[in-house]
Amino acid sequence: MSVVTRFPPSPTGDLHIGSIRTALFNWLYARRLGGKFILRIEDTDRGRSSQQSVDIILAGMEWLGLDYDEGPYYQTQRFDRYGEVVEQLLAQDKAYRCYCSKERLEKLRADQMVRKLKPRYDGHCRSLDNVPTGGVAPVVRFRTPLDGAVVVADKVHGHITTSNTQLDDLVIARSDGSPTYHLTVVVDDIDMGVTHIIRGDDHINNTPRQVHILEALGAARPIYAHVPMINGSDGKKLSKRHGAVSVLEYREQGFLVGALTNYLARLGWAHGDQEIFTRDELKNAFDFEGLNKSAATFDLDKLLWLNQHYLQNVPSADLVAMAKPFFEASKVRLDDGPDVAAAVEAQRTRAKTLTEIVEQSHMFYGDIIRDKNAAKKHLRPAVEPVLQKIREKFVAVDTWSGAALKDIVEQTAIEFNMKLGKVAQPLRVAVTGSSASPSIDITLELLGRERCLERLDGALVYIAERAAT
Ligand code: GLU
Repeated sequence: MSVVTRFPPSPTGDLHIGSIRTALFNWLYARRLGGKFILRIEDTDRGRSSQQSVDIILAGMEWLGLDYDEGPYYQTQRFDRYGEVVEQLLAQDKAYRCYCSKERLEKLRADQMVRKLKPRYDGHCRSLDNVPTGGVAPVVRFRTPLDGAVVVADKVHGHITTSNTQLDDLVIARSDGSPTYHLTVVVDDIDMGVTHIIRGDDHINNTPRQVHILEALGAARPIYAHVPMINGSDGKKLSKRHGAVSVLEYREQGFLVGALTNYLARLGWAHGDQEIFTRDELKNAFDFEGLNKSAATFDLDKLLWLNQHYLQNVPSADLVAMAKPFFEASKVRLDDGPDVAAAVEAQRTRAKTLTEIVEQSHMFYGDIIRDKNAAKKHLRPAVEPVLQKIREKFVAVDTWSGAALKDIVEQTAIEFNMKLGKVAQPLRVAVTGSSASPSIDITLELLGRERCLERLDGALVYIAERAAT
C-alpha cells in the first residue's frame, strides 16, 4: 500500500506552529515511505476563511520546505461532490432530512441540561412518514447506528472504544445545502486516497463519527494517529498569551528552518535521546512509536539553543544568504562598512537568531550608538593616555589586520603595566559604543582604520569633557 498523508488546515487566521507540526509529521511520514503528501485547504466556513490566511499557509509551508505532491485542493471547489454524496446517503437511507425547528432543538437541549444529560439530538426525524408542514428548511443528518460501538486502533493512544449511544445523528448538510466539516473531511480523505491521518488529538472525539460516515460510504479505514497538543509552560494550550505562535513570526524573528523543524519534530516525538537531527535524519527516523501520548510543552529557550546550534553549524555561504534579507530590512547601511559575510562570520557564534546577528552588527556600519553605562564605566580619564597611545599606533601600523592590531593592544597593556582586559575593554567601548562585541582583533579589523580613529577621537573628547566637569 502506498502511503498518502494530508495537511488540511482551515484558513481562518495565522498558521499556528501546532498546525505546522502536524503538517511536518505528515510530510515526514510520507517522505520516509516514498508516499504522497497532500495539501487541502478546508475553507468551507466562508465567513471565517480568507485569502490572506491561505497565503500565510502557503508561505509557511514553502519557508519550511514542506512540499506537497497534490494540491492545494480547496473544499469550496468541491461542493458539487459533497452534494452528490449527501444525495447518495439519503437515497441509501443512511441519512435523513431533519425538520426540527431551532426552538425545538433549543428546548431539547435545555431539558437535557436540566436532567444533567449530554446534549444530543433525540432522533425525532429519524423515521418520519411525511414531510412535516411548517416550512422549516431541513438539514440532513447522518443515521448513526443506535447500538454497538466503534473501535479505533489509534497509533498513539491504542484502542479507543466509543459506544454508539454516545454519538448522535450529526448534521452533514445545513439547511442551505452546505456540507459540514465531518462530511467534507471524510469525502475528501476517501476521494484523495488518504491512508494515514495524523492530526492533533483535539480531533480524537471526531474520529468515531467520521468512521461511521466512511463506512457508510463503503470506504476502507485509514490509519489514525492523534498527536498530543502543545502547551505553554503553564500547562495551558499554547496561544498568543505565551508568545509567538505563528510560523511566520518565527521567520521574522530570525529562526532557521533547520532549527525550527528540528524543534517541532521533537515536540511530542522522540527518537532515543537524540536532540539534533538533520532533515534527512528526521525523514529516516520519524515513526509512530516515538510519538508521546501526553501534551508537549513549548520551550522557547530550547528552540533558541537549537537555533544557536544551527547558526554555528550551517555553511558560511548559506548563513550569509539567510542573513542578507535581515540586513536589507534593517537600517544598517551595508555600503558603509565591512563585507556582510565578514560581519556574519564574526557574529555567528555570539547570536541566537539572525535578527541578533543584524542588531549586533550595527556597530560596524554607520554611526556609533554609545551605551551610556558602558561609557561611564570604561571611558575614564585614567585610560586617556592608553587610548592616545593606541591611536598613535593605529595611525602608524602598516597592515590593518587582526593579528597586528591584537599585537598593538597587547604591547600597549605591557607598556602601561595593565591587564589586557583593562585596555581592551575601554578600547572596545571607544570603538563600538558598547561593552559587547566579537573579539577585539576581529572587531577592530572589521571596523577599519578610519572608523576606529574617528571613534577613538570621539571617545577622547568624551573623556576630556568628563574630566572638565
Ligand atoms: N480543518 C481541520 C483543522 O484545521 C482539519 C481536521 C483534520 O485533520 O481532519 O482542524
